[in-house]
Amino acid sequence: MARRGDREVLQLMPLRAIKKPFSTKTTRIGSTRWVETQLDELTRRILHLTESSCFTCGSTKELQVGHLFERRHRHTRWDVDEKGNNHLQCPNCNAFMKRSEYDALPEFQGY
Ligand SMILES: [Zn+2]
Repeated sequence: MARRGDREVLQLMPLRAIKKPFSTKTTRIGSTRWVETQLDELTRRILHLTESSCFTCGSTKELQVGHLFERRHRHTRWDVDEKGNNHLQCPNCNAFMKRSEYDALPEFQGY
């Protein structure tokens, strides 16, 4: 009877069974990831200074930075303009609003 090699066993394992530890790698100062993190924090601070409630529903609890266009779009990721891409939102609105729903809001008429 042939014995299975480790490689074959790994291929048979479901992905969930592979425990991958969280990365403990530190971000190197000046790297792209470091700059992006700094800009994210700056964006968060600016929005908390300029806005005080959820852009969508008006709630003032647990406000987060919401992106109308997703964060992966770097050309709008740090846009803090009054009519820009980023606004404070409550966790519920931030998680469940879709771009198409914003198009129906009066603030976005003409965009
Ligand atoms: Zn909200």
